[in-house]
Amino acid sequence: MKKVDSKNLSFNYTQTDMRYVAEYKNGKWDEGRMTDDPYIRMNECACVLQYAQTCFEGLKAYETADGRIVCFRPDLNAERMVSSCKRMNMPEFPKDKFVQAVKDVVKANKDFVPEYSSGGALYVRPFMYGKDPIINVVSANEFEFRIFTLPVGSYFKKALSLCVSDYDRAAPHGTGNIKAGLNYAMSLYPTMEAKKAGFNENLYLDPASRKYVEETGGTNVMFVTNDGKVVTPKSDSILPSITKRSIIQIAREELGIEVEERPVEIKEISNFKECFLCGTAAVISPVRMVTDHGKEITFDTSDNEMGPVTRKLYNTLTGMQKGTVKAPEGWVVEICKA
Ligand SMILES: *Cc1c(COP(=O)(O)O)cnc(C)c1O
Repeated sequence: MKKVDSKNLSFNYTQTDMRYVAEYKNGKWDEGRMTDDPYIRMNECACVLQYAQTCFEGLKAYETADGRIVCFRPDLNAERMVSSCKRMNMPEFPKDKFVQAVKDVVKANKDFVPEYSSGGALYVRPFMYGKDPIINVVSANEFEFRIFTLPVGSYFKKALSLCVSDYDRAAPHGTGNIKAGLNYAMSLYPTMEAKKAGFNENLYLDPASRKYVEETGGTNVMFVTNDGKVVTPKSDSILPSITKRSIIQIAREELGIEVEERPVEIKEISNFKECFLCGTAAVISPVRMVTDHGKEITFDTSDNEMGPVTRKLYNTLTGMQKGTVKAPEGWVVEICKA
């Protein structure tokens, strides 16, 4: 029996039945376990609370048309978490244990996976944080790795309008390329400002020269040229989106679309025909307008319909994720029957 109302899905926290916890102490991870307790008790001086030593991941589990529950490329989330942990001076969580724990948590909450026809998914949030009390500015010694889940609908409902931000989301040679909560902390104030001004998200520029497009607070960005090529920014301070990497491969190998990954100047984006955001939460969300200090740049997208290339990529990607389009070997990982 479903414990989720597939017709009323949002992108808000909902408590589901079970979550996974593993603890790291004296230089090693314990066995890990499932728990029904969503609360964490820790010391007031825990490293995560004082110095933000934490990183996270995000992926989704889907119900397929033929009644299976699957997830999409969890091995890449496991790998990316390893690189985030290294940069945050946290211990690696073994990749095979990560993937197994994702499967176990999804299976334990399978009644919260929205129905196939709803377009929703079970969002899976792995994260790690430094737990013991630290007042010197050094790394914690004890860590917790957790995974919880929540049912979600689609993040964005219609074509978006973005605002070029005067703030940076990441420093040059900083942590822009890892999935650290601290990057999000920096973006909260500018995001609220953008929303107050009527925009959906900020578009951030490269922090060193402020000449090139980077990404939004939580998604990568892609463009389509007049002759149907896909262009996406390349930079060391962009988070390497798994959705973007998948779209690039789909475009090149399945759809025969040329893709350029290169620095993209903010002043050239008015030449592009389509623009969209991509990420696990956003999937592929079309952008209708970017406002750059009063100058409005519009794209070939109406409120409710994506541009043709964006649509093709969207249909192929979501078809693969939900089992109606054949995906490359290993992309779709079966967890259990619905
Ligand atoms: C998570 C995230 C993305 C999207 O990555 P996916 O792997 O596609 O979900 C993009 N930008 C930032 C800043 C992110 O944190």
